[in-house]
Amino acid sequence: MNTQILEITPASLTRAADLIVNGQVVAIPTETVYGLAANALNIEAVKKIFEAKQRPADNPLIVHIYQKEQAYPLCHWTQTADLLAEAFWPGPLTLLLNKKELVPSIVTAGLHTVAIRLPEHQGALAFLKTCDLPIAAPSANRSGYPSPTSAQHVYDDLCGRIPLILDGGDCRVGLESTVLDISGKNPVILRPGFVTAEQIAMVTGSCEVADSVMRPLSTGEQALSPGMRYRHYAPQGQLTLFDGDPLHVAQAIISLYDHQPDSSVLAMEQHLPLYGDRLVYSLGEDAASAAHRLFYLLRSLDKQGIRHIYCESLPQTGLGLAVMNRLARAAEFDIKNV
Ligand code: AMP
Ligand code: MG
Repeated sequence: MNTQILEITPASLTRAADLIVNGQVVAIPTETVYGLAANALNIEAVKKIFEAKQRPADNPLIVHIYQKEQAYPLCHWTQTADLLAEAFWPGPLTLLLNKKELVPSIVTAGLHTVAIRLPEHQGALAFLKTCDLPIAAPSANRSGYPSPTSAQHVYDDLCGRIPLILDGGDCRVGLESTVLDISGKNPVILRPGFVTAEQIAMVTGSCEVADSVMRPLSTGEQALSPGMRYRHYAPQGQLTLFDGDPLHVAQAIISLYDHQPDSSVLAMEQHLPLYGDRLVYSLGEDAASAAHRLFYLLRSLDKQGIRHIYCESLPQTGLGLAVMNRLARAAEFDIKNV
């Protein structure tokens, strides 16, 4: 199959919507990461998402909409959902609500909840409006690889497997959405993202974070969010995290780096001088820029054939928790306290 990359224009949007209506998949930009889209109500089309990504069938998809009212036939909408949608939509917050019959169980991997998000990216919204259908879309990467934050990343992973990639530039956030379960009594974050627990609690009064966010699941443990079960976001090279004060972290990293060819370091901008002239890439000055750069950096280290990646830990507060959640999984929880 030939994979086209097209800028977002009225003509490419029409082409994309034609593909969707005809049961095909299309990669689209969002403010979080690129998504692989299909008509959420067409089982055969949704199967193509799982096939192209080689995604395990028990990992459910997020349904994307362009206006709140589209959620009503899909789920049992609640007052809390209304408050959260008012505060954070359009934006990088996914809500889990009790599903209605209309949503095929392949989308929710048989769960009783459905994940719904109204994105903010103008290209994504234009695409959703042109299709005028609920659109199932997980990240547009090969399952297990770092999520794609540019059209080129999608092409690198899915070339020949999908007909079209809409190019909407680099993703602003660069990390997947916050997944918030509001199907129970209290809101619980199952996957941290750009919208933090503190921000959600300002609207709902309280917000828990599932403890599985920062630890590996034990064997046989039921995952609240099935995606958490898998090795995730992982580069080809071996990633190790280092936690401690920046000077000690730098000393520990340097002692490994200097004995290991094909090594590279990821560090905050402020700490770059600690690494001298070694191959070190900046995560930027704060958690937002680390989020924005993380997947891009992991992918570019793979392209350079780097075998060992040593990375500073970030404080697990605010957006730092989301960055650490992805890093810990990419490192398969290889975190050294120094
Ligand atoms: P992705 O879009 O690739 O980031 O994948 C969607 C994420 O949302 C996965 O980690 C899923 O496990 C999670 N998700 C989607 N639907 C549900 C659901 N009904 N319950 C729990 N987690 C969900
Ligand atoms: Mg994903």
